[in-house]
Amino acid sequence: MSNATPLPLYAIGLGSNRRHVRYGDPRAVLLAALAALENDDIEAIDASPIVTSNPLGPSRRRYANAVALVASELSPPEMLERLQEVEASFGRRTGQRWGPRTLDLDILLWSGGAWSDGTLTVPHPAIERRDFVLGPLRAIVPEWQHPLTGRSVRQLAVRLMRPKPVDRKGSGH
Ligand code: ATP
Ligand code: CA
Ligand code: CA
Repeated sequence: MSNATPLPLYAIGLGSNRRHVRYGDPRAVLLAALAALENDDIEAIDASPIVTSNPLGPSRRRYANAVALVASELSPPEMLERLQEVEASFGRRTGQRWGPRTLDLDILLWSGGAWSDGTLTVPHPAIERRDFVLGPLRAIVPEWQHPLTGRSVRQLAVRLMRPKPVDRKGSGH
């Protein structure tokens, strides 16, 4: 016990809207994915309940979503590479943004703060607009502060629940 420096934490978003031939429905896919995330470099700390929600974009399927809290010394690009390996091992095909997919793994938050390069942006830029992200996130890390705005996950969730003006211009989509 008691490392002088605790390992960095990541909040990882998990999503599925397609059955897996072996694991079954999207809920079961997420449970299997949670187990698959763990390895020598990634320690599972906590996981949210799994929520189901209506799909975003052209797909008419329902989504299952959850958030995992993991501890890891991997850098954000190394973590993304690992997540993409796990997605591939669940049969995810690329090139279908928002379409049906067996497994989608996103880096939502990293305790190291913000990261931005050509292919990776952390925190995930859509966190504040997605109730299927903020709900599970709030269940496990309500006090985690967004490094760029200083707002906690709980505050972001409350903001998202506020009634929106009828005119959706400028709503962020
Ligand atoms: P969204 O990012 O809006 O949730 P998506 O998850 O459907 O959409 P993908 O097709 O899975 O998008 O990913 C497209 C690319 O997004 C990835 O190849 C990756 O390089 C990039 N990306 C940028 N920031 C992140 C992040 N925080 N987590 C995961 N991928 C990211
Ligand atoms: Ca996503
Ligand atoms: Ca993704």
